[in-house]
Amino acid sequence: MHTGSIWRVALATPLRRLFDYLPPLDWEGGEPMAGIRVRVPFGARSLVGIVIEASHGSDIAAHKLKRVTEVLDTTPIFSAPMLEFCQFVSRYYHHALGEVMMMALPTRLRQGKPYTVKAGTAAKNSGETTPAPPLALNVAQQQAVTTICAQNDFHVSVLQGVTGSGKTEVYLQSIQYFVARGLQALVLVPEISLTPQTVARFAERFQAQIAVFHSGLTEKERFESWARAASGEAAILIGTRSALFTPIPRLGVIVLDEEHDLSFKQQDNLRYSARDCAIVRAKQSNIPIVLGSATPSLETLQQVVAGRYQCLELPMRVNEQALPKVHVIDIRNQKLDEGLSKPLLGKITEHLQDDHQVLLFLNRRGFAPTLMCHACGWIAECTRCDARLVMHKKSHEMRCHHCGKVEGLPKQCPKCHERQFVPLGVGTERLETALQKFFPDIDIIRIDSDSTKKKESLQQILATVANGKKQILIGTQMVAKGHDFPNLTLVVILDVDSGFYSADFRNLERMGQLLTQVGGRAGRGETKGEVILQTRHPEHPLLQRLLQEGYATFAQEALYERSVIGLPPYSYLAIFRAEAKSEAQSLNFLKEVQVLLQQYRIPALSILGPIAAPMTRKAGFFRAQLMLQAKERATLHSVLKKIVVKIEELPSARRVRWSLDVDPLEMFC
Ligand code: ADP
Ligand code: ZN
Ligand code: ZN
Repeated sequence: MHTGSIWRVALATPLRRLFDYLPPLDWEGGEPMAGIRVRVPFGARSLVGIVIEASHGSDIAAHKLKRVTEVLDTTPIFSAPMLEFCQFVSRYYHHALGEVMMMALPTRLRQGKPYTVKAGTAAKNSGETTPAPPLALNVAQQQAVTTICAQNDFHVSVLQGVTGSGKTEVYLQSIQYFVARGLQALVLVPEISLTPQTVARFAERFQAQIAVFHSGLTEKERFESWARAASGEAAILIGTRSALFTPIPRLGVIVLDEEHDLSFKQQDNLRYSARDCAIVRAKQSNIPIVLGSATPSLETLQQVVAGRYQCLELPMRVNEQALPKVHVIDIRNQKLDEGLSKPLLGKITEHLQDDHQVLLFLNRRGFAPTLMCHACGWIAECTRCDARLVMHKKSHEMRCHHCGKVEGLPKQCPKCHERQFVPLGVGTERLETALQKFFPDIDIIRIDSDSTKKKESLQQILATVANGKKQILIGTQMVAKGHDFPNLTLVVILDVDSGFYSADFRNLERMGQLLTQVGGRAGRGETKGEVILQTRHPEHPLLQRLLQEGYATFAQEALYERSVIGLPPYSYLAIFRAEAKSEAQSLNFLKEVQVLLQQYRIPALSILGPIAAPMTRKAGFFRAQLMLQAKERATLHSVLKKIVVKIEELPSARRVRWSLDVDPLEMFC
């Protein structure tokens, strides 16, 4: 027990507590300011940490306390609001505060390098050209802008606008209003590298400085964007989810585009939802936030139903084109040639004859998802995962899409030594080859992460497509987002069937969103668009809802189903995951967690599992999970708060890698 001044420091260790230190030897500065960085000894290492508070006395014996070795900041690098925000994130996700705060900092600041806030320099954009004038809004857009701009305190607005309804224009003009009053705006988007158009539209519209923040930038560029937002110099910060942790001193409004998008949820380490946390940040800052989407998530729609968020609708496309008509091709009794049916090939031909573009959507990269030995039926599998290797023909490789393992194409079967193999199933590469055979004179452009690896190639491809005529595009997930291809009139969705009967209860919602988003790429120009869906489940009731009445009705129905079975958003989930060198280790650890949980005897808490993960082995580790479910958020969080510190003390916790996922979006990953 020590009495006297103690600095309590957050450190980037998984342990969920603060660490006590004595002030530096020659310290004469009195109480330290919360939010400054310090260097401290930690075991044999020296770590950078953040001072959270000063206290008098410590539970630790005086002779065991070490001293802060160096004070790194004269003014706090975490302002009071950012500290409060990080504390919320740490509490809500039951994650160590030090890890949250270090994640919030650009690398060089995390390393302890000096940071001085420069006074705002002259805006870079001014002089570069005059900004583009705003467009004349239609009635629905005007109403949305007026409503958003009338809010000068915390409000959540859901901008639900069909694809092509002009949501971005609403963001631009709303932000203009806040920026004109000297405030800053934060714009969060799913993946900037996929939507360079969005940044371009902001850049041409505003005289004020814009900073961009995403993982495609170098460390130095990221730091500069962070610093320009933090100093107040940049009026607008556009970024992916981690931009949410940037200090923005005059934050006046937050816009989060494509709010349903999965990439807003971090799937490793600190498993936070940037959408949910953005709402908290808006609340703490007492400012409005706008969540935009053509296909809002069921969570968000439920908040609208409950009256907590207000819905602003843009029901029409800007060009007043009707949304594309959807045709279903039942492929149950059809002969397919490389995954394509006869009527489908006919439709593609028609659209090409009219000099238009056709997009085929297939969310499966590579040539074939399975490679089988012709003689004995042996199948190429990953040695580190419970998964098949995907054949990539162009690069002569077999690749595991789960762990990244790459090997050459097999020369002979390891089982029977025969040399003939059959590729089963169709990936984008195979589709490209097949279409080239059916349409030898047509330009075929494949857009997936294999064809766009080089930094500039996606933008080049998008530019070609934007100006192109008579082309066939093949795309994965990458093309579902935000692109505007004016000459595209037919969208074909080849494989959605996996969405119908998946173990993950959210897959149906995702299928509805994907169909609507991908389908929405058709007919954005002058000519009416068409969507074709090949399926073996044409009669599925929710699919029928979606096709006949659109996403809003589909979502209502899906929400109703969730309420009947008591799944989110009508209950709250958390998943403990563990991975270890053996399945028994993972399961045993989670069984101990289960026993700890049962000791609390909380009838309102369901404990489900532990079970081995459906894909048990991944990258050589055996994975298991334990799920908690409660009707009330508070029930779940009070038990999580107690249990995580107990788990840290379990000896078995040191033999596994474990994590906690609060509000998980993927049940099995
Ligand atoms: P969304 O984000 O809803 O899919 P966008 O904001 O990309 O839609 O708008 C679709 C197209 O319509 C864009 O090319 C945009 O410039 C144009 N647009 C948006 N609002 C207007 C308007 N009020 N008048 C004319 N064109 C508009
Ligand atoms: Zn064989
Ligand atoms: Zn693998």
